[in-house]
Amino acid sequence: MKTEYECREEGSYDLIVAGGGMAGVCCAIAAARQGLNTLLLEKEGCLGGTACTAGVMQLLGGRWYDPENDRMVRVIGGLFDEITDELIAMGAAVEPDTVDIHHYNPYGWYPRMAAGISCEVDTLKWHLERKCVDAGVHLRFFTTIVGAETKEARVTRLITHDKGGFSSFRAKCFADCTGDGDLAEMTGCPMEKGREEDGAMCPATTIFYVDQVDTARYVAYQNEHESPKLVEIIHELKEAGRWPWDFEIFIAIETPTPGTFMVNTIRQIDVDGTDAASLTRAAMEGRGLAHELLKVMKEYFPGFEKAHLSRIFDHVGIRETRRIAAREPITLENALAGKHYDDCVASTTYNFDLPDPKRPSYDPMMGDAKKPNAVREHVRIEIPYGALLPRNMENLIVAGRCLGAEREVMGACRVMGPCAGMGQAAGLAAGLAVKTGSFAYVSVRQLRELLQESGCIGAVSDEDIIG
Ligand SMILES: Cc1cc2nc3c(=O)[nH]c(=O)nc-3n(C[C@H](O)[C@H](O)[C@H](O)COP(=O)(O)OP(=O)(O)OC[C@H]3O[C@@H](n4cnc5c(N)ncnc54)[C@H](O)[C@@H]3O)c2cc1C
Repeated sequence: MKTEYECREEGSYDLIVAGGGMAGVCCAIAAARQGLNTLLLEKEGCLGGTACTAGVMQLLGGRWYDPENDRMVRVIGGLFDEITDELIAMGAAVEPDTVDIHHYNPYGWYPRMAAGISCEVDTLKWHLERKCVDAGVHLRFFTTIVGAETKEARVTRLITHDKGGFSSFRAKCFADCTGDGDLAEMTGCPMEKGREEDGAMCPATTIFYVDQVDTARYVAYQNEHESPKLVEIIHELKEAGRWPWDFEIFIAIETPTPGTFMVNTIRQIDVDGTDAASLTRAAMEGRGLAHELLKVMKEYFPGFEKAHLSRIFDHVGIRETRRIAAREPITLENALAGKHYDDCVASTTYNFDLPDPKRPSYDPMMGDAKKPNAVREHVRIEIPYGALLPRNMENLIVAGRCLGAEREVMGACRVMGPCAGMGQAAGLAAGLAVKTGSFAYVSVRQLRELLQESGCIGAVSDEDIIG
């Protein structure tokens, strides 16, 4: 048996981005556009991360519904707007401004949900790839980061594994955009994972798509009964013993293909997205649940009588795993108080959204199905630069779901608009950090100027957003 493995030296870069989800793609493009020799390493065969591998096709958090003025506001700007506007122009995404938000609609029932941009995930994958190539990003798919070497508070190289064996990549700076904070964890950065009291994490979801849905009938039922998540039907089914699951709301959102819906309803508890054995169980369970749920949908849900299974995503959608111990973590108290940070580099206006780990249809920070808009005095939560900086490493930054924030705050930051915003900020910061090899010495004033020039901050004033 072979016990020693060779490690190929694969070259050296200005920046290596770990993971090609929304955060990683925006980070890599922003860095490469500044002339950085940028490599993006991705374990799957495509970009887009959770959107593309788990099927989450509604890009939330980039637009915000302003209830006072009854209008959609662009709140992230920059690459998020660029990517989504291009998808909309290609006919591969739905412009929220065209959705009738005064009635229940198939793109997310409520105005604030209809602010999400429904898109075709296969086109998104392709488009992100082309944009990376155009920007000069080097892409390496099917490559999993399995280790990191560090010296004196610096990451010196990454160890990866692929079908050809082990490789080593060097860089001046690194960005962890793995969603799970894999790279930060490998460098020994202290991490938080799940609830403080028991480590339990938010439920996971196997997403599936169905086609041949009668959208008009589904929407008409919702309007007539004011039942956006079909809660009454589900309660009746439960009483009759025909709904055996803990989750009690039906969430289905139409994709840009009329009559094809993403079903984001299944909730799987006790899943650890950083444990392959747990993910294996969840993947198998999720496939079974999708088939069982579809049977019930066809029998009892208006509009779904002829629904046909078009695809179950292999990857179980993971809402929560690790968060880094950051230099300046965002506390819930600060988020609720609408704290302004001098080093604010991104923000979120998305609601707190982190369902209870054990009670899948209950969200401790939200309203209920009848009153979905949790009242938040300060709508915008600012994300300071320090929330992206792990405490232990000088040349490492994180962006995306694994940011340094209390878990409730992560629930508001984890959607794709803010992840794109954090990613772009990290990529621009890399352009400044590469000179000194340290993210800590970046001039935040300069970084904010770059973010302003890129349309990421300042596009919407605080006065435009309540709080
Ligand atoms: C069920 C569900 C529903 C959701 N609904 C919505 C919604 O409607 N709208 C919305 O905007 N958001 C939604 N979200 C949240 C959102 O999809 C994610 O939080 C967001 O996509 C995270 O982006 P990210 O770039 O941080 O990470 P990810 O999208 O997870 O990307 C991380 C990337 O890193 C790669 N990677 C990980 N580890 C390694 C490694 N060791 N080596 C190499 N590559 C690695 C992964 O393969 C992946 O491509 C939902 C999430 C779930 C789970």
